[in-house]
Order: sequence, then structure tokens, then C-alpha cells
Amino acid sequence: MDAAITFPQSLVQARGHNFCAGPGVLPLPVIEAIRDELPALPGVGASVFEISHRSDAYTEIAASARARLQRLLGLGDEWLVLFLQGGASMQFHQVPLNFLAPGQSADYVVTGVWAEKALKEARLLGEARIAASGEASGYRALPSAESWEVDPEAAYLHMTSNNTIYGTEYRTDPSVPVPIVSDASSDFLSRPIDLDPYGLIYAGAQKNIGPAGVVVVLVRDEFLQTRRAGLPTLLDYGTHAARLFHTPPVFAVYVVEKVLGWLEEEGGLAGIAERNERKAGRLYDRLDASGFYHPFAEKASRSLMNVTFRLATEELEERFASEAEASGLLALAGHRSAGGLRASLYNALPEEAVSALVAFMDDFEARYG
Ligand SMILES: *Cc1c(COP(=O)(O)O)cnc(C)c1O
Repeated sequence: MDAAITFPQSLVQARGHNFCAGPGVLPLPVIEAIRDELPALPGVGASVFEISHRSDAYTEIAASARARLQRLLGLGDEWLVLFLQGGASMQFHQVPLNFLAPGQSADYVVTGVWAEKALKEARLLGEARIAASGEASGYRALPSAESWEVDPEAAYLHMTSNNTIYGTEYRTDPSVPVPIVSDASSDFLSRPIDLDPYGLIYAGAQKNIGPAGVVVVLVRDEFLQTRRAGLPTLLDYGTHAARLFHTPPVFAVYVVEKVLGWLEEEGGLAGIAERNERKAGRLYDRLDASGFYHPFAEKASRSLMNVTFRLATEELEERFASEAEASGLLALAGHRSAGGLRASLYNALPEEAVSALVAFMDDFEARYG
């Protein structure tokens, strides 16, 4: 018997078009590269699962991931790149724990469930104000940055750049008088950004840039220095900025490094942004083309990453999702809290997937419209 571990070609061919909101689709060339070096990393003699996080091999992987992020985003020396655990949800707590001192308050822009959760954690620790809310619109519409009522004394303003559940997105970088902390989990690295307004950006990797298990945190040194003293060691951003304190999520960082390499090859953030606009544009055009599909988000607030829509009845929505699944169009049901349908078009989703979805929508409307 052949002892080599191989991934059957039939399984590669069995990959559907994956519209999952997260963990989401990853680039096939990345998955194939991982497969190829899974038994042993080149020149190392052991797999990525079996090496010390203090080995040269991991040190190089982490350094390369940082360097790629620096190149892709144009990060200067004032930015620190951290690979943390606990998911984006841990950041909801860690941000106020570090930056909301007694006597201070922080501002929150509430644009959906994730933002509500971030606000709740801040209020466990101190005073947090709502600077703007989209709740009255059922989170279909984003309050424009110009309408935010920002307290100029706030320790920071927290926002969610892309609302994964509702399909709304701030597609430009707001400017406010205090440092912005952004939960960019579901649109991180989907377009070039202007870093000036931000003090800290965090993103759970499993939406757009890797597998579950790592959160990428970018923190500006000047903002980092405003954190409180006496924090629990592991929850102090300063611990991770200073050194490799404990075992990082080695495999997740390894995959992220490969995805970042793929992004560079695809033309960087400008290249991927162009493709993302094309993909979402085609799908929104199809949604707007007839009264059969009802786009959920208000036009001005539409996300390029998560496209949400409804049909006339829940029964029809269920039929849509299950027939789509049977045709290899995966995970189109909306979030359990919002219902409806949702197509997530993350960076790694190929344009052919959108073509296939649009063709399915034409056919579904012809049969049920
Ligand atoms: C998925 C998601 C989260 C939660 O991420 P976890 O890593 O599961 O904690 C937070 N914010 C946004 C915008 C998300 O899409």
C-alpha cells in the first residue's frame, strides 16, 4: 500500500460554491499548498502541528505573516500586529478592559448584534455611551458617520465595519476626534483602508482571512500606551506586543500567512477590492432586477461581503436554501437570529460562484415567481 498521505482528487472536485458566513471559504490554492506540506514542512521534518512555537520554523511563519500584513495594509512601525485567541468575542471584553479606565467613558456605534455584544461587555466594566444606533431601522440602515454624536472626551469609539448578520458595511473610513476601535472581523482585508482614524482594529480570522482559532489585532503604539496598568497578564495587549508570551494558535497563523501570500499574488487589497465590487455588484443587480427577491439592507448601507435578502415567505426561503445546497451552492440560509437568506462573498469566493448563484436565482424565479 502506498504510505503517502494524499487527498483524493474526487474530494477536491466535490467542493461546492461556499457562501458560508463563517468560518468561510478559503482559496483552493492555499488548501492545496497546506495539503502538500502537511506531513512535513519543507526543511523541517515535522508537520506544522508538531513544531515548537519557539522554533525557527514558526518564528519565520509568524514574521512572514506580519510582513505580509504590513505590505498589504501599508502599516508603519507605529503599528503592532498581534495574533490572539478567544475569538472576536474576547475582544469585546479585552478592549474596554485595557482602554476604559474608571472615570472615563467610551462611545459605541450600535449597528447590529455583534455591536450590541461589544457594548454589553464595555458596560460590565465601565461607562459606555451609544454614539449612534441603527436599531430603529431593524439594522437595515447604518447611521452615517456624519450623524454620530461623538464625545470628544471618549477613551475611544467602537464600531463594527461590517455587520455580518444584516449585510451592512461602512465602506469608507470615518474620521472622529477620538481613536476608533473597529471590529473588522467580516471585511478585514477586503479593500485598502485609511489607517489614520484607527487606534485598534481586530478581526477574527475565520470570516475572511483564515481558519478559526486566531484573531488578528492591529494596535497603534500610541493608543496601546493609553491602556490601564495592572491588567491580567494574558488580557493585557502589552504582554503580546512585548513578546511571545505563550503558545499561539500555530496552525491558524500558518494558514493566515498563506492566505496573505495569496492576497498579494491576487493584486493586494486594490486588486481584491475591485473583484469584491464586481462580485457584489452582480448579485445586487440581480436582486434589484425583479420584485421576486427583496434585498434586506438599505442601498446606501449595503455590504460587499454579506448580501442579505428575503423572499415572499419563509417556506420559499427554506426551499431556496435547500435546493441551492443540492445544486452545490452552500450555506445560503441567513443567520439564525435574522432569518432570510445570505450570500457571503468573502475574498476567496471565486467569481464563478456568483455566476452560478445568479443562474440558480434566475431558474428559481422562473419556477416559483
Ligand atoms: C463572527 C463575528 C464575531 C464573533 O466572532 P467569534 O470569533 O466567534 O467570537 C464578532 N464580530 C463580527 C463582526 C463577526 O462577524
